[in-house]
This record gives sequence, structure tokens and C-alpha cells, in this order.
Amino acid sequence: MKMNKSIKIMTPGPTQVRENVRMARSLTTTNPDLDLTFYEEYKAICDNLSALLHTDNVSYILSGEGILGLEAACASLTEPGDRVLVLDNGLFGRGFADFIKLYGGEPVLYTVTDRTAIDVEALAVYLEQDHDFKYATVVHCDTPTGVLNPIETICPLLKQYGILTVVDAVSSMFGVEIDVDVCRVDILCGGSQKALSAPPGLTMLTVSSDALQAMEQRHTPIASFYANILTFKHYYRDKWFPYTMPISDIYGLGAALDNVLADTEIYARHAQIAQAVRTAAAEAGLKLYLERDYCATVTVLEVPEGVDSAQFLQHMTEQYGIMIAGCFDYLAGKVFRLGHMGEGANAEDVAAMLDAMDKTFADLGYTLKCSMKDVFVKLMDTEEVSL
Ligand SMILES: *Cc1c(COP(=O)(O)O)cnc(C)c1O
Repeated sequence: MKMNKSIKIMTPGPTQVRENVRMARSLTTTNPDLDLTFYEEYKAICDNLSALLHTDNVSYILSGEGILGLEAACASLTEPGDRVLVLDNGLFGRGFADFIKLYGGEPVLYTVTDRTAIDVEALAVYLEQDHDFKYATVVHCDTPTGVLNPIETICPLLKQYGILTVVDAVSSMFGVEIDVDVCRVDILCGGSQKALSAPPGLTMLTVSSDALQAMEQRHTPIASFYANILTFKHYYRDKWFPYTMPISDIYGLGAALDNVLADTEIYARHAQIAQAVRTAAAEAGLKLYLERDYCATVTVLEVPEGVDSAQFLQHMTEQYGIMIAGCFDYLAGKVFRLGHMGEGANAEDVAAMLDAMDKTFADLGYTLKCSMKDVFVKLMDTEEVSL
């Protein structure tokens, strides 16, 4: 089989995977159901996750890509007829409504502009009128626009009304520091393939005791087996997993978490690079999709008039070996999404990405006001960037 090794992926996930993570995935494996040492390894990795996310809440790693975590949270909390507040300022935001409906709940959408973060004060006014919700869903970074919602104020506000929160942090986790306990998030969802920079295939959850209690106090059974978070509750005490754990994937995830732990500059570097990318794009005359409230893991630029998005992306990958992303749904063909998360959040790779973009614009006959790469390199060199 021929694999495309020469392309550098600078997409907002999946991301590049470091060699030590790949090596960890090739270690000799045991039977993860029967060998009790695996329960210790799994628990140690979950404990690392909780520590890195600054929480006393328990963590679980489920075998399935990020979407499984979102579905599992909704499946486990939603009972038929439950009203669920869906905070929507983007595609992943409103996507939660589908899961809620699937499990018999009644999603109530709170829809606001996708060009800025959710305004907590406006939300507070809304909640004064209506707060009869079992839980609410919110996306930390809605990746199609790259907006970062302030979960540190949104979730405590909801909690004041006794509303549990499910937060999709798939594309922010480990690119933006998250303090789950300060934010009072009940279920936080992450994915292996974004800033954590392990291959796709795993979802990580932190789950509060309030959320576990809500699952246990249901009147109806959880309408799923694979997406039932409660099946993990006693895995360690009972030495029993609901299904065989993908041991190699979990070893890889463990190594990726060790990389995050060892990288003391990780959040400052993400912030600095993201700021420099935005400045470079703006100076080159490109328009940022957002007005403000940018996430440090992804930059979303409008495709300029006269440039064909699909042609641009194909040319850049084929000629320069670097892949960035377009978008889907209502943003299809309208924006470029530049990933600078996890393994991609380093000055060298980002400079190479911007250089390839500079050249691709030139090849397609579009004139930028200046080289994005030059602005970026200068900013990173002189450390003029405000963090
Ligand atoms: C990537 C991502 C997910 C997982 O979805 P896939 O597109 O299937 O990888 C979920 N939520 C957000 C915000 C994401 O960026």
C-alpha cells in the first residue's frame, strides 16, 4: 500500500503525530480485558487527563472518535421529554440538537451570531425568562469559524440555575488551557486527533459527580450501550470494561499526554503563534472570519474574491506538500482554516504553511499586500507578539 508520507498536515485536526506517540502504539500488547496491569495503565492515563485539565472529576477514554464523546454525553443525560438548551454560534453548536432529538429530548436552540463568542450577559437575560433545562450544550472552540466561547463564565452561570453543562472541547483541549473545576463543566469532551496530536480514534471525557448522579437517577434506561457513560463507572473496582479497550491507541494517547505534560510553554506558544498568524494574514490583506474571540488552535480566513477554494487547496497540497482545510455546510468554499494546534503549533511548520500559501496565491494570480510568511517570521523573531 502506498501511503502519502510527504504531505504536512496543518489542518485543524487531525494533526501530525510525533514519533514517540507512533512508537508507543507499536509496543507489545497484552489482553486488556484479562490482564489486570492494563486497568492500572488505563487508570493512570485517565488520572493524567484529569490532572492536566485541573479537575477532581473522573476521566474516561472511550473507543471512538470525538463525536462519540458528544453522543455519549447526550445519550447518557437525555431522557424522553427533557428540555435541553443548545447554545448555538456555529455548526458544532447546533449539531448537538441532533443527538438530543435522537434520544428523545427537546432541544431548545439559543442561536446567536457566528462572528463572535456567545455574550454571557445576553445569555443571563435569556435565562432569567427561561431556565427550565436539564442540561445545556456549548462548544468551546467551534472549529468551522474558530470562535472561542467563554466556558469559564457560561458554565458557572448555567450551574446557578442547576443546569448541567456538556462542553465540546474537542478542538481546544491542550491548545487552550482548560480548568474544568473553575469552569464547573459537568461533562467535557475531547478527541485524540486535535491538539493532543494522537491519531484519530479516541474520545476523552471528564465527568462530574453531578452528571453521574443525573444518569443514575434517570427514570428510563440509557438508550445505548456503546454511548452509555455509566458502563464505565465501576471499571476499576470491578476490573471490567464494557468492551475490549483499543490498547495500542491508548498507549499512544498516554505518550501524547506525556508530551503535553513535558511542554511547559504549550499554551503560551499556541497563543503567540495564533496571534502572529492573524497579524500576518491581516497585513497581507486577507480578512479574518471572526470579529474577535479567536481560539489559539485555528485561524479562519475568508477566501478572497476571485480565488477558488478547492483549486487553491489542491494546488497548495500538490505543489508545496502542505495541507490546510476548507470548510463544509454554509461555509463550504468560503473560508480557509489554518491549523496551528498540537504538533503543528511550532514556528517552523507555521512559517512553512504561510510560505506555501503566499506562493499558492501568487501562482493563482492573486496579489497579497505582503508575504504572510515574512510578517510571521519577523513577529516570532522579535517577540513583538502580545500573548
Ligand atoms: C473535530 C471536532 C469534533 C469531532 O468531529 P470530527 O469532525 O468527526 O473529527 C467535534 N467537535 C469539534 C468542535 C471538532 O472540532
